[in-house]
Amino acid sequence: MDLVIRNAILDRSGEPVEVGITNGRITAVSTSTLPPGDLEIDAGGAMVSPALIEPHFHLENALIWEGALNHSGTLHEAIEVYGAIKRDMELDDLVRRASIALDAAIANGVQWFRSHVDIDRTAQLHLLRGNIAVREKYKDLIDIQLIAFPQMGMARDPEVMDLMWQAMESGADIVGGMPHAERDMDDAARHIEIAFDMAKARDADIDMHIDETDDPYWHSLELLADQTIENGWQGRVSAGHCCAMSAWDDALAERVIAKVAEARINVITMAPINLMLEGRGDSHPKRRGIARVKELLEAGVNVTCGQDDLQNMFYSFGNMDPLEVALIAAHAAHMSAPQEIEAAFDMPRCNAAKNFRLDDYGIFEGARANLLIIDANSAVDALRRRGDRLYVIRDGRILTQSKTTLQRHYA
Ligand SMILES: [Zn+2]
Repeated sequence: MDLVIRNAILDRSGEPVEVGITNGRITAVSTSTLPPGDLEIDAGGAMVSPALIEPHFHLENALIWEGALNHSGTLHEAIEVYGAIKRDMELDDLVRRASIALDAAIANGVQWFRSHVDIDRTAQLHLLRGNIAVREKYKDLIDIQLIAFPQMGMARDPEVMDLMWQAMESGADIVGGMPHAERDMDDAARHIEIAFDMAKARDADIDMHIDETDDPYWHSLELLADQTIENGWQGRVSAGHCCAMSAWDDALAERVIAKVAEARINVITMAPINLMLEGRGDSHPKRRGIARVKELLEAGVNVTCGQDDLQNMFYSFGNMDPLEVALIAAHAAHMSAPQEIEAAFDMPRCNAAKNFRLDDYGIFEGARANLLIIDANSAVDALRRRGDRLYVIRDGRILTQSKTTLQRHYA
């Protein structure tokens, strides 16, 4: 075997385990001693987990901080501030900032990544070219999928529709959308229809920003579910944000959640961003803009979580650590019981793998050897301390090692 990991525990059961890797695949998972490998890792009792997944990010505007102040703290102003900046964005600068974000994500154990790319009258296909350069630069280090994202709407704009078709033919992998950027629900339905035309023509998945607003008028998630079923795209569609769901009445929420379950739509909550951007117009009590995570999970919906933004006009913080995002999602969605914490820990791991439709994800013989050894002994420990990512491994190759040292100068 090329690599043998000894003295580890399994991410779910906590059982002691040894893992053997050959030619980039896991070839042995054993409770007894494996034969020597060419390279050996002593995990020191730490947890071996499949690598983490970032299902929703925007590489192109990561770390645009100076001169990008969002006074109101709203999504609306963030889009406006970014609109003025993206017009003149240098691609070298895009690649530089995206590289900082990706290097941080990789060191935190991320091996699969989705980035939304603005496609609109201002951006044209310019930002797509920058994102493709980033994907090429990192192709041996992390799997990146690019989503063509018509953030300013497209139902009434033939130029943007045309740009979206071009984007899908020029390197974008997934059809994005933002139906609530349209004038009303009728146009939102048209927006989703156009996206399905593209997805079917390209045999592509769909991943939209959905109802990222406090306004309960918007329930384009229901339109997305209806059209997913009509088009036979079950399991291939993701809905990010779904903030308006927190402002709906229970009857509407129940009806839509049932349809989302039937359509097998993946819901991606962006809890840190939603908590920060939504509810800005409210006096107390304030809406929190959080998708109904527990109700969705109870209905059997696959729920994952995303970082979305890194220190920019949309969000002032972020550390490219999916465990930090899962921790914040657990707070926002009131997930505190042990089983609920395990569900939160699964969000950026196996739930996101389902979103990416990965069938070789996990710790089992035959799985792709994209692994993480994390200083943790359980799900609650992993989220509570977000310990060192001792080793990050891609296809059996060690990409990074981290080990924090502490010296106490007291007795
Ligand atoms: Zn986003």
